[in-house]
Amino acid sequence: MDPADFVARLTPVSQKFEQAGVSSVAGLGAMDVAQALAGLDRGPYLLSIVMWAGDTGSLYHLENKLWADVCLVATEQKWIVTVGAEMLRGLSKMAVAEFVMPRLCAVCRGRGLINSRNGIVRDCNMCRGTGKAKISGRERARFAGISQNSWQRVWGSRYESYFIAHLNGWEIVASDHIRRKLNAA
Ligand SMILES: [Zn+2]
Repeated sequence: MDPADFVARLTPVSQKFEQAGVSSVAGLGAMDVAQALAGLDRGPYLLSIVMWAGDTGSLYHLENKLWADVCLVATEQKWIVTVGAEMLRGLSKMAVAEFVMPRLCAVCRGRGLINSRNGIVRDCNMCRGTGKAKISGRERARFAGISQNSWQRVWGSRYESYFIAHLNGWEIVASDHIRRKLNAA
């Protein structure tokens, strides 16, 4: 079973999962999920409950965890952050929002598929079947309050390599963990 599908079973919140292509099935109890997530590190754990169990109350903690981890990298690598740690915090918030609650593609409305005129269903060209709207570097820079120039030279690649990559890593760890637990059960 797909981990997302598994965690989705716990919650009646289904619209989000349907959008993500995960069918929601009622049935598993809180103990099941507690068991499957037990032993996960904080980052992957928070990501799982926010992304797959609809626990939006933990978004704030997820953002803070990412922020704290990136601050460690920043110190290690001696990043020059002119406007202080708050800027890293803003980027953490943006990365979490983008990762956990992606904007839906305007063409297919998040389905990833479109019906062409002759009735054939095919992958949406705009989002290449992901259902997610692509956010440009220009938009990210504007949202983060960083100049386009500075975004292109420095922040764009840091954003991908540390913020988004961190979340990606957590998702992989969490999926593997849940899969292992399910197989062992
Ligand atoms: Zn699309």
